[in-house]
Amino acid sequence: MLISENFCIKPFTTFGVEVRAQQFIVVSSIGDLQDLFKEGFLKTEPRMVLGRGSNVLFTDHYEGLILSCQIRGKEIVEENDDYVLLKVNSGEYWPGLVDEIVEKGLGGMENLCLIPGKVGAAPIQNIGAYGAEIKDVIESVEAFDMTTGTGKIFTKKECDFGYRSSIFKTKEKGRYFIVNVIFRLSKKPKLNLAYAPLKEIFQGRKEEEITIKEVSETIKKIRNKKIPDPDSLKNAGSFFKNPVVKKKTADKLRQQYKDMPYYPQTGNKVKLAAGWLIEQCGWKGKRIGDVGVYDKQALILVNYDNASGKDILQFSKKINASVIKKFGIHLEREVIVI
Ligand SMILES: Cc1cc2nc3c(=O)[nH]c(=O)nc-3n(C[C@H](O)[C@H](O)[C@H](O)COP(=O)(O)OP(=O)(O)OC[C@H]3O[C@@H](n4cnc5c(N)ncnc54)[C@H](O)[C@@H]3O)c2cc1C
Repeated sequence: MLISENFCIKPFTTFGVEVRAQQFIVVSSIGDLQDLFKEGFLKTEPRMVLGRGSNVLFTDHYEGLILSCQIRGKEIVEENDDYVLLKVNSGEYWPGLVDEIVEKGLGGMENLCLIPGKVGAAPIQNIGAYGAEIKDVIESVEAFDMTTGTGKIFTKKECDFGYRSSIFKTKEKGRYFIVNVIFRLSKKPKLNLAYAPLKEIFQGRKEEEITIKEVSETIKKIRNKKIPDPDSLKNAGSFFKNPVVKKKTADKLRQQYKDMPYYPQTGNKVKLAAGWLIEQCGWKGKRIGDVGVYDKQALILVNYDNASGKDILQFSKKINASVIKKFGIHLEREVIVI
């Protein structure tokens, strides 16, 4: 295993900020993890796992150990007339996996196309898009406990999934290296067209005539119009989560802002659209130096060229302050700031 010292991680994150890691190690197998544990490397503080770096913002050099997840491969572990259980290693690239699964006609992932991360990170924040969340097709997650050197299989229930959240982001943050994920994919796909823009596009069509490939291709077209490709414009997707507030708070705001997006949730709560709130504060398309708000989607912050992580963080704080001032709502970050 190659251990790189003082290693530039700019190409390993989609925000592309100029930072270095004190130590950087590529992990290609569970065996690598076992060796690193035996040799005491995993005791390094701080240490973290990095996938494609599409949900992180480094605000400084990382004075610790970064483990780059590159465990590749996949295999069918069970199959019958109804479903396939597919085990996918954590270093596989997510968008390629979704395309392959959709091409095979297996249902469950088609709404989650073009999310530019790796498989191991998908359970971390329970990735979601277009009315779907990955928890709905996760059977189990196998992880390596970096504190004890042992393996553990988490059932879906044990993952404690929530909105952009899981046990790996909360109670057990930083403890486990996710090694693989088993997905339950349906041979008799049921379309998920609940998301309003999709419903509208497919309105009037018989569900049995619509294929999951058509759904996925449609979502790709919508995404490509609204979300910048990090290879050409550096970003980490939605910077903030959509706030979930008490119904009473949302109703009060809606009296004042009649066109405010409003999504009722369970438990007398309402989800609001962070992008809309940010746009109302006049941030859409605004730029300060090399940091800006994407002009087609106010939820996305972009690094136009040489912004530092600190610049991006400062900019995000200004946005949050104006949303608090105008609406009394604090936006929680979706991107993990390091
Ligand atoms: C253009 C764009 C669009 C996006 N659209 C969406 C979207 O629609 N929906 C959505 O949910 N997200 C979206 N994202 C965010 C991001 O792509 C996802 O959260 C993705 O799952 C992150 O994967 P990653 O491999 O880049 O993780 P990283 O950013 O490398 O890591 C994220 C977190 O997971 C941890 N981690 C990564 N791999 C492992 C592992 N193997 N074991 C343990 N911990 C690990 C890291 O330590 C870190 O805490 C988007 C991002 C971009 C840039």
